[in-house]
Amino acid sequence: MAKRSSSRIKWLILFLFILGAIWGIYGSLYLGPVPKIEISLDRPSIGATTRVTAHFAEAKRGLGSLRLEIVQGDRSLVLAEQENPLPSPFRPWESGDRKEVVLEGSVGRGDPEWLEEGEVTLLASASRLGGWIRSAEGAAVEMKVEVKLRPPTLSVLSGQHYVRQGGSGVVLMKPGASAIRSGVRAGTIEFHSQPLADSQTGARFALFAIPWDLGDASEIVVFAEDDAGNRAERPFIDRFKAAAPRKDTIPLPESFLQKVVPAITSQTPTLSTRGSLLERYIRINDGLRMENRKQIAKLSKESPPEPLWQGAFMQLPNSKQMAGFAEVRSYVYDGETVDTQTHLGLDFASVRRAKVPAVNSGRVVFADYLGIYGNAVVIDHGCGLLSVSAHLSSIAVESGTLVAKGETVGHTGATGLAGGDHLHFGLFIRGVATNPIEWLDPRWIEHNIASKLRAD
Ligand SMILES: [Zn+2]
Repeated sequence: MAKRSSSRIKWLILFLFILGAIWGIYGSLYLGPVPKIEISLDRPSIGATTRVTAHFAEAKRGLGSLRLEIVQGDRSLVLAEQENPLPSPFRPWESGDRKEVVLEGSVGRGDPEWLEEGEVTLLASASRLGGWIRSAEGAAVEMKVEVKLRPPTLSVLSGQHYVRQGGSGVVLMKPGASAIRSGVRAGTIEFHSQPLADSQTGARFALFAIPWDLGDASEIVVFAEDDAGNRAERPFIDRFKAAAPRKDTIPLPESFLQKVVPAITSQTPTLSTRGSLLERYIRINDGLRMENRKQIAKLSKESPPEPLWQGAFMQLPNSKQMAGFAEVRSYVYDGETVDTQTHLGLDFASVRRAKVPAVNSGRVVFADYLGIYGNAVVIDHGCGLLSVSAHLSSIAVESGTLVAKGETVGHTGATGLAGGDHLHFGLFIRGVATNPIEWLDPRWIEHNIASKLRAD
């Protein structure tokens, strides 16, 4: 009995010895895979503040010390680094805590201060855990990138830029060859330039709107930007006329809410039916109004780069203007102001169900029910200029068709947010509402738009 049990122990010891030997050989030779490293930038070149990201991954043994640096000539700067504890080499089955790490840093003009135009090297490196008798060489990846610190050149070719708050205009410009984007900035909104047809000189033009609530002319500039984010900006407005918004009060009788709320709701499947009639009205007047403006902005994305309009825009024949642009309306219910919105178009009234002409030539891009606008026809006049004829009782055109100025597109009515029969005429440049009154004036168009597009 004793003899048999001692032979079992011997076998067990031998087995454990072999196991230990295999483990020893494994532990001394096993290094794990080389970490994967990738460097990426948020711009193709370094100029203005550029984000540099290094992505490290090693799924088996984990990552050790990591470093991301920038090198130019004999100077270098560590942008980000991280030390990670590695497991003991005596326990090769264990792996480090970090299997995937993202290091981020930023570089750009003056940061570091020795940064010069030309080439730089971005270097991302990771140390590796060795075995008992083998040391593992670290892994490193480098990327060469160009540093550009000078913005593109930018000249203004047109003159006499007389504009007014809420109005619009055209400017002719010549951005340098390195520009990837140029145009007009009005406050926080950018209107991108387009190549001028038949220009021999590489001139570009930008049709722009000045938001109704932008009263500071110094916030209207031409700009040009390169792929490194270097940006030139310069003023070009020669005369700016401030136009403070007018104030108006709109009473909300129960009968009006009963007329408009269920009608708009039935045509707008996304609209909630929760709450009182007044709450539902405010949701339409505020939320749906914003939604409808976004829809119009979206329609302008496909606009062709050349003007489809010709000459002045058309007012509803034999009509009287009932409301102006940028009227800030306070809505009063039961003696209390319940909402405030800005009227961003012109209202015209004629006889009931009057024929509505296409305000100018262009392509119909929408002919359907459009929330607060009721039955509406949206015409794309080119260069991002879109008109909206709203509150129609009937629509006489289909989306996609080309219309000539004066062609009947529908009849006036009181659909959407309208008290009585009238035409709401709205104009948008790249989704920014602009005062249509300027575009109804042939002399204004000639001086501010047409002559500038010929100025090359
Ligand atoms: Zn209106």
